[in-house]
Amino acid sequence: MSEKKPKGHGKLTYYIIAAIVGAIAIGYFAPELAVKFEVGGEVFLSLLMMMVVPLVVMSVMSGILGLGDVRKLGKPGAYAIGYYISTTVLAVIVGLIMVNIMKPGVNKELEAAKAKYEAADGPERKKAEAELKALKDEIKAKVEEKNDSNEEAAKAVEKQKKRKEAIEVHKKAVEDLSIAVKTLAKAETALKKSPQDETLKMQVETAKSEKDTADKAFAKAVAQKKKAGEEKGLGDILENILLMLVTNNLFKAAAEMNLLPLIVFSIIFAAMLTTMGKKVFAITRMIGQANDALMSFVMLLMNIAPVGIFCLVAGKFGHANLEGKLAEMAGQQGYYILTIITGLGFHAFVTLFLIYWLFTKKNPITFFKNMSQAVLTAFSTASSSATLPITMECAIDKAGISEKSTKFVLPLGATINMDGTALYEAAAAIFIAQIYFPITGQELTMTTQVTIAITATLAAIGAAGIPEAGLVTMLIVLNAAGLPVEAIGLILMVDWLLDRFRTAVNCFGDSVGAAIVDGVMEEGDELLNDHQEPEGATA
Ligand code: ASP
Repeated sequence: MSEKKPKGHGKLTYYIIAAIVGAIAIGYFAPELAVKFEVGGEVFLSLLMMMVVPLVVMSVMSGILGLGDVRKLGKPGAYAIGYYISTTVLAVIVGLIMVNIMKPGVNKELEAAKAKYEAADGPERKKAEAELKALKDEIKAKVEEKNDSNEEAAKAVEKQKKRKEAIEVHKKAVEDLSIAVKTLAKAETALKKSPQDETLKMQVETAKSEKDTADKAFAKAVAQKKKAGEEKGLGDILENILLMLVTNNLFKAAAEMNLLPLIVFSIIFAAMLTTMGKKVFAITRMIGQANDALMSFVMLLMNIAPVGIFCLVAGKFGHANLEGKLAEMAGQQGYYILTIITGLGFHAFVTLFLIYWLFTKKNPITFFKNMSQAVLTAFSTASSSATLPITMECAIDKAGISEKSTKFVLPLGATINMDGTALYEAAAAIFIAQIYFPITGQELTMTTQVTIAITATLAAIGAAGIPEAGLVTMLIVLNAAGLPVEAIGLILMVDWLLDRFRTAVNCFGDSVGAAIVDGVMEEGDELLNDHQEPEGATA
């Protein structure tokens, strides 16, 4: 598999586009029929997922082995990490700018009511105040509305609520205890002065028993707070990201599709192999061959992609239609969707195109066309990890990116480089703030925006490449911005759709990264051939 010429699957992109359009149409006009295709979609998704773990392990290992000497990883490695971080930050900035310009969360009705209240006086003012309050209550109810269409997110919200309650109870217990201690001390001092006073004696007894009760309540509150867990700060998020790199059980990581520890292990394992020479020739060659076989398997899967994608999209849109989620897209939610999609479009077609052109001096439109099957698959599966086999296939066979860069940059990118998710998290958090802050009287300050930018970047790195993972890490962003986590209900209903768009951008962002790192590799490093036979070794 060393040929670089684009090959095969000539009309596949058109078939995939037709499949997506047809599936959306069926989902819209005949949802009952559309959901019947769901099982086909699941089969296709499982087939893709089935490839991910072996492909990640084998391709990362064979990528490292292809380098010949791991010290050569330095420059491309630094480029890849630099690329991941800078494009994620750029995406967040685009998201923030978009949402601040388009203001999808600003409620015109509320603003008008506020202005009316401020302008009115006399009896009019009372009426305007009532109207304003009613409007605020309505928004508040919407924020607090229970919405568990995403189980993970609902669980996380519940946990966070319990944590908040426990903190409140703890605060109250501390106050009660301090009052009880003071009252007791006062009563005891008074009793010391006149030890025979029966009333004072009674007072001391009462104060003692009150302190006892407060003591018990305090102990209970402490235990409850401990159980609910501490409030997560920025340090904890960084710590979590660090911990995500390793695992205490490689098989568990594989079973749960935790790709990061598998990648770390594969890099180190293959790096060790490169230092062991002839002794490990058999295993080195086996890794290369297994990787080639897996890639051929992916090529085979590509042939059924249009059917699989049709089933996946029809099933999802059909379901969304039956659950009333399509109708949800009117009004404010529609404008919010438009804001996010405009931001994502800008990032993909302006920022990433420009970066691609600057670094490779090649035509980004051609590159996008070459990667389009992967981008469309990402849209259909809403999972960067599931799309990874196809992204790799397109990168090598259609876009002509070298196997070494592809194997090294794409698996890592699919797990940690999520431009679309970062943009979405930042913009969605501001959208929620735009809705929520006016009713609490809070201001959307620069500090809040910066906090959102930082946490959105980290949350995107921490999000797994699976459907709606960004929704769960979104809670970190809301928390940091001082927004109620239950406000996630405001964006839940349309997340299934936005997830598709952001995953497509995640996938395209990874591909541009692979192309850029490829340029660096070709320029600087003398690379050895894939699965190079150690000197003197025989097959
Ligand atoms: N679904 C996205 C992905 O796999 C992650 C997210 O929820 O944003 O890339």
